[in-house]
Formats: sequence, structure tokens, C-alpha cells
Amino acid sequence: MKIKITLYCPNCQSANVKRNGKKVSKKQNYFCKDCGRQFIGNHALSYKGCHSELNQKILFMLVRGVGIRDVAEIEKVSIRKVLSVLVCSNHNIKPKQKHYDSLEVDEFWTYVNNKQHKVWLIYAYHRATGEIVAYVWGKRDLKTAKRLRENLKTLEVQFDCVCSDSWESFLVAFREDNLVVGKQHTVGIEGNNCRLRHRIRRAFRKTCCFSKKLFNHFKAFDLALFYINFGFV
Ligand SMILES: [Zn+2]
Repeated sequence: MKIKITLYCPNCQSANVKRNGKKVSKKQNYFCKDCGRQFIGNHALSYKGCHSELNQKILFMLVRGVGIRDVAEIEKVSIRKVLSVLVCSNHNIKPKQKHYDSLEVDEFWTYVNNKQHKVWLIYAYHRATGEIVAYVWGKRDLKTAKRLRENLKTLEVQFDCVCSDSWESFLVAFREDNLVVGKQHTVGIEGNNCRLRHRIRRAFRKTCCFSKKLFNHFKAFDLALFYINFGFV
């Protein structure tokens, strides 16, 4: 019986691969002619953590409400591996448009370690396209609200009007812009808050899931917000 397996380079997904001797463990080694990467085929790996499609899968699971320990158990890898995939990921959102007709701004409450360590996500959302335009982290105060406005300015985002609830920091920070106040105008962003609570395990309400490190917390949110903008979630 002959079984044929097509191999792809884990680095550049090219099929332009040749055999390249054997490893000390007597496993066949392969060499990618396009990028020069050497690897062992996925089928011959004894440790599943090196599987070339695993990292992407872990990231998808993390933005679909699966916790770190659940991923480790399902994929039979270590918790350290799952955390390292999250920590080494690098996701930054960029505004897709230069000009928006209206932006909704709101704050989103989360915590790290215990409920005394609150961190607030303050962000701008475009309802028509479901895009998160910019976000900042900080305390629930005027300084953070102002930072969001500065952030929008540095990104050179133009907008006709801003919708917010009647929180006074927004009233002060965005007073020079065309500000529309009222809960009925921020329905879109409230819906998105609900989506975040569903999607990011560490933002679930009434559970005991939380981040232990602020850095990991930020990484988890960077990932989810990036995936939302690109329609994966
Ligand atoms: Zn390659």
C-alpha cells in the first residue's frame, strides 16, 4: 500500500519542499526551497505543540470563548504553550476608513486578578460597518477619555459626529466635536459590548474567569478586536 502525503512548509505554506536527511531521532527532515525553513512533517511529530496549524487554531479558540485550560486539555498541549501563543501574538487594528459619518464611544469594564483591579476599555465603534476604530485602556476618568480623542486625532480619523451616553468625561473630552448624547444613539456599541462579553473568556460576567496579568489581558483583547474587524468573529 502506498500512501501519499502532500507537505507544506509551516512557515510560508509553499509545497516546494525537498527531503533533507534524517534527524537524530531518525525522523525524516524536510527543507523548504522557498524560505529555507527545515521541518519535520506534521504526521511524524511526537509533540503536538509543534503542529504547524496549531497556533492559528489556538487563537481561534481563544476568541471563541474557550479558556486557556480548556484549550490545553482539548489540544493535549501544555498551558504554557497556549499562553505563549497568546503572548507572542501581535495584533493591532488600523482604521479602515479615513472618514466616518458617526462614531459611538463607550466604556467597557473588565478586571485583572480581582475585582479591585479594574481596567476600563474605552473605544470608538462604527455601527454601520461594525468596526472598532480605536481603543485605549485606563481608569474610568477624563484622562482616558481624552486619550481616546487624541488617539483618533493621531490616526487622522475624521468624523461628522460622536454619540455617547451622558458620562461627563465624554461630554468634556468631545465637547469640541459634534457630540450627540443619549442612550438611544449608542445601541450599536452596547451590542458590541455584549459580543465582547460573549467572545472573550476573560470578559464573561458572573464567572470566575479572569486574567492574572495585565499584559495577557491586553493581548487577549487585541486579538479579539482585530478578529472582529476582519470578520472572523
Ligand atoms: Zn517555506
